[in-house]
Amino acid sequence: MGPMADAYEQLLDATIQHLEDLKSRGVRHVAVSSETLRALSQPVSAPLPKPASPPVANPPIPSAIRHPPPAISAPAAEQPTLLALPGETVPASAPLDPQAKAAAFAALRQRALACVKCAHLASSRKNVAFGIGSIDAQLMFVGEAPGADEDEQGEPFVGKAGQLLTKIIQATGLKRADVYIANILKCRPDTPGQSAGNRKPTSDEMATCIPYLHEQIDLIRPKVIIALGATAVEGLLGKTLGITKLRGTWKTYRGTPLMPTYHPAYLLRNQAMSEKRKVWEDMLAVMEKLEMPISEKQRNYFLKG
Ligand code: URA
Repeated sequence: MGPMADAYEQLLDATIQHLEDLKSRGVRHVAVSSETLRALSQPVSAPLPKPASPPVANPPIPSAIRHPPPAISAPAAEQPTLLALPGETVPASAPLDPQAKAAAFAALRQRALACVKCAHLASSRKNVAFGIGSIDAQLMFVGEAPGADEDEQGEPFVGKAGQLLTKIIQATGLKRADVYIANILKCRPDTPGQSAGNRKPTSDEMATCIPYLHEQIDLIRPKVIIALGATAVEGLLGKTLGITKLRGTWKTYRGTPLMPTYHPAYLLRNQAMSEKRKVWEDMLAVMEKLEMPISEKQRNYFLKG
């Protein structure tokens, strides 16, 4: 193999490694410009440009590969194509026909309700808590996993934390039915040998279940996603900073603005006004992004005297 082919192989390896890294961090799609797509479709035998200096052991990775452009910032004339990982769907840009959307959502729900991919959870669950709310919602909340109440009722966020979430939603002027609420996991994490309590989903459980959430998001196409707590952020964005550092800062889930905030269960454990205010500030930022009206009274919730 000549030095040129060596360099090409190394570049290819580095690219594959980079994509594997992204995948392991939860990135499901990469933005590719049509120019790159055209270049990729050229025959491989096309001569590579002659290197100016002798090939090095680790050739530099082109900056477009090191820093793929965020899908959201592409100019209108040159929209990047989203390439899906095998077995995953990419939302098409054309609006979905409402009937086709409802049918696709119902079919997805049926698949999730019948899912036995995590045999231990399928056998311990009472119900699958698939998701609840409007499939045309502009705002989507994503939590961690069903607890005992959610398992009992087959609906996310109906226990104590859920009641607090409902109050937060109502404080924005929206109703629970106006938004969509789902979890990273659709089944309650089992707690063998314990009659009560919850546990965090394992990485395997999250990886197995997350395609359902991806499909829910692809079909609903919310304008904003709120990730409730560290597990929700990890499930959607991959491992990143802790929730204390992340909350209140806009992130992007495949082009959709995502606001990480504290899980309502945290607010139940920590009743400090300052923590309630932080979540409320995150909600105000979301309301602004959605161009919702905000009253003076709403702006001042949870501010000390
Ligand atoms: N906590 C969650 O993260 N999700 C629920 O559905 C209930 C509690």
